[in-house]
Amino acid sequence: MNQVAKVIVDVPARQVDRPFDYLIPTELLEIVQVGTRVSVPFGNRKVQGFVVAIQSEADTDKLKTIDAAMDIVPVLNQELLELGDWIAAETLSFRVSVYQAMLPAALRAKYEKYFIRLDESDEELEALFEGAETLDFKKAEQNELLPALKRYLHDGEIEIAYEVKNKAVKKKAKVVERLASVERIDETIQDLPKNAKAKARVLLFLAEQTNATLPLSELREKTKASASTITSLEKEGLIRITEQVVGRDPYKGRQFEQSEPLALLPAQQKALDAILAARSAETFLLHGVTGSGKTEIYLQSIAEVLEQGKEAIVLVPEISLTPQMVERFKSRFGEEVAVLHSALSHGEKYDEWRKIERGEAKVAVGARSAIFAPFENIGIIIIDEEHESSYKQEENPRYHARDVAIWRAKRYGCPVVLGSATPSLESFARAQKEVYTLLELPERINQQVLPKVEVVDMREELRSENRTEFSVDLLEKIKERIERKEQVVLLLNKRGYASFVMCRDCGFVMECPNCDISLTYHQAGNRMKCHYCGHEEQVPSNCPSCGSEHIRYFGTGTQKIEESLTKLIPEARIIRMDVDTTRTKGAHEKLLTRFKNQEADILLGTQMIAKGLDFPNITLVGVLNADTMLFLPDFRAAERTFQLLTQVSGRAGRHELPGEVVVQSYAPEHYSIRFAKEHDYLGFYQHEMRMRKRGAYPPFYYLTLISVSDQNERKAIQTIQEMSRYLQTKLTEKSLILGPVPSTISRINNKYRYQCMIKYKVEPELKKRTKDIARSLSKRTG
Ligand code: ADP
Ligand code: ZN
Ligand code: ZN
Repeated sequence: MNQVAKVIVDVPARQVDRPFDYLIPTELLEIVQVGTRVSVPFGNRKVQGFVVAIQSEADTDKLKTIDAAMDIVPVLNQELLELGDWIAAETLSFRVSVYQAMLPAALRAKYEKYFIRLDESDEELEALFEGAETLDFKKAEQNELLPALKRYLHDGEIEIAYEVKNKAVKKKAKVVERLASVERIDETIQDLPKNAKAKARVLLFLAEQTNATLPLSELREKTKASASTITSLEKEGLIRITEQVVGRDPYKGRQFEQSEPLALLPAQQKALDAILAARSAETFLLHGVTGSGKTEIYLQSIAEVLEQGKEAIVLVPEISLTPQMVERFKSRFGEEVAVLHSALSHGEKYDEWRKIERGEAKVAVGARSAIFAPFENIGIIIIDEEHESSYKQEENPRYHARDVAIWRAKRYGCPVVLGSATPSLESFARAQKEVYTLLELPERINQQVLPKVEVVDMREELRSENRTEFSVDLLEKIKERIERKEQVVLLLNKRGYASFVMCRDCGFVMECPNCDISLTYHQAGNRMKCHYCGHEEQVPSNCPSCGSEHIRYFGTGTQKIEESLTKLIPEARIIRMDVDTTRTKGAHEKLLTRFKNQEADILLGTQMIAKGLDFPNITLVGVLNADTMLFLPDFRAAERTFQLLTQVSGRAGRHELPGEVVVQSYAPEHYSIRFAKEHDYLGFYQHEMRMRKRGAYPPFYYLTLISVSDQNERKAIQTIQEMSRYLQTKLTEKSLILGPVPSTISRINNKYRYQCMIKYKVEPELKKRTKDIARSLSKRTG
């Protein structure tokens, strides 16, 4: 009997999104398992694939055979494979794309495409290949050899190969292993001549170690031993030196002081008890104001889960995954914590992932994709700041980490804890309907009052001839804090705030030649960039339209704010934090440390400063432009504004000193700003729910956006109209189809974009219908 593997090949196309059968060659029988990646012949090339099942089959004559295994051990377990299938079905993605998304980037295969010479006798071919066995595709392309090679390919004299390049280079290091027993070491030391002090030092050091091995570099550093000392010990057979693959620990060398569980307050205890009492998959919504002690609840429930021999996943939004946050987990659980952070290099992330896979780490802390941590006995899944939009992946597969968490929790019968000071409307509505269990922490620890929020009407400032970005009030208050040696956080809300170049004389705005959107100004190099297609150009010195010299950068970037603030308060020491100043690795952390050490009075930054900051000396938070988001065509604009204002207000007065918040706005009467001022989540929730109901938006209706893009505008319109007509006939009467209309950005990279929006309550057929559409379209385009 032969073994047959069912393989999902890495060709993201509708037609091949199903398993293909391959014979497992005898020599790979022990290696190829469910979840192993393999290289298989597919058409006339070789591709990578995932083995999703193995069966015995009798007649296998006609089957192709697996070429090679890419892994020694499977990279996906049965649970993750099934999860992948579910996500693929839910998000209308290809299974292979989902599997890839579940793996750390370093494991994601990068193809090197090249030709292999099969016919050794052909001289011309040998010349083309310059005598080598293989020829790089790109090189062949550059040398214009492709037409000739195409003929050889057709005749079967060469073949195309796709080689998988693993980007994660495993790091190797020399390690020292103690061979001699402690007794023998003792004896040896006794017998050593007096001048062999270095040797004695090394031996003593080794005898004291609890671990059998340690890195050579560490040994040398700690004992100051020379290379020759080590070599002679090795010669005497007391130690052995080998090369080992070592995990890179990005937090290595940093000391985390062990932290002990705090005695919980009654509200905290109640929440913890409820979570720990969950006997099956149950989703909790932990609604607690900033500083109410949510994180301590996470820590203590994880401790209990570990006690039971199980594992925990903690998701934190990328921007709040600060060293401070990591430290809280590391100092409680030490080495058992793996951190999956996008700021790590691919290799580092791979190492952290391997720690989980090997069972060395029991707690995974990370951003969205950490939800795929390859644990096999999950005891709890925690999603902090559950309202954050970054939990939804914006590209295919468009999964939401919350849904994935709930799926995995069902599988393991464990609780999910969604924590937030400002829960998403969807989650709070589910808690109201008791789909989720609501847990409330209404007060801050130590009953600190929430900071007082003052809203300044910037229109008034303009009327009174104040043309700066700072209201008189805010400026006064900043000066006060500087005098008192307290600290200030200033937020510039960048979302919806374009920095563009405009001619002051004729109003000409620089736009991308490929996309219908204005170019964004980048101070570095004085260049204009398109954030959609990458087009770049220099800022012109004269307006291309009227020739005026008064064409310049318009809009307010953090850098400009910094400049005007320095003019207004020359003595202010400012730290600016935005994409420009945090580009290099570790920069984010360095800036925060400097601020923490009070090397500056003011921390000025974008959204990235709104979260996770917990410094005792911050007593004033200023929001320079609270409302820019409100003008975006997004039904969540009010919710996002409320969330941001609440979050950033939470940065002030977290410790002994009382805090104050100044919010500058051109729309101070807007309800999102009014409710944020009062710290009134419930009031906001109720108001916003009424607005959503009226507008037929989530959570009352589901939305599905169908968009079409094509270089040919007429074809794009035709297709979207066809789709919309088709759906009109297939969907129930209660569903609304809006559009078709041009998309918000109606052209990206020279492709015209049209869309229609479907609003529906129950539409059991919708998934199937959209799938049908996708299938028929992919057929059409071949
Ligand atoms: P949240 O996650 O809700 O913002 P934290 O868990 O960060 O709140 O708690 C805010 C502060 O209060 C932290 O400094 C934390 O150490 C402290 N804290 C939390 N729980 C307790 C407790 N039971 N007793 C004393 N201090 C606590
Ligand atoms: Zn002009
Ligand atoms: Zn563009």
